[in-house]
Amino acid sequence: MKLLTGQEEQEANKWFGEAAQVARRALCLRAKCGAVIVKDGEIIGEGYNAPPQDNPEFRTCLNEYELPKNYRHDHTCCMHSEWRAILDAKERNPAKLKGSRLYFVRVTDAGECKRSGKPYCTVCSRLALDSRIAEFVLWQEEGFAVFPTDEYNQLSFQNIKE
Ligand SMILES: [Zn+2]
Ligand SMILES: [Zn+2]
Repeated sequence: MKLLTGQEEQEANKWFGEAAQVARRALCLRAKCGAVIVKDGEIIGEGYNAPPQDNPEFRTCLNEYELPKNYRHDHTCCMHSEWRAILDAKERNPAKLKGSRLYFVRVTDAGECKRSGKPYCTVCSRLALDSRIAEFVLWQEEGFAVFPTDEYNQLSFQNIKE
């Protein structure tokens, strides 16, 4: 992991702004998340978390579907914003995924960006790795943290064991 500084930090700020805009459209009742995938200065895929097809009939956010507390690799109920962003990029131009960067952010109900904790979603980390996304970027306590996707995947597996 490395923290972005200078020009790269400014650019990341812009992409997190875009990811936050996407996150504000989230339809999940538990968390509002957004992801944008960037390659060569443009967004190649984006997604927010929501029930499948954005259809409330498929909603599983409610308590009767609550997953066990220690089931940490997928404890939201909806399609993850990262899955959506990857699928979007695959539909638009799959060749661009290789070497791209994924920016993920969560917003409050009021739409304010929230800092992320440690990576733990091994579904997203494996899908990102399989899709050849080069790096994952989170807004953490220390700043904008960039993880090579293989490291992100390893950390996610380590963190779900804790
Ligand atoms: Zn949900
Ligand atoms: Zn995930």
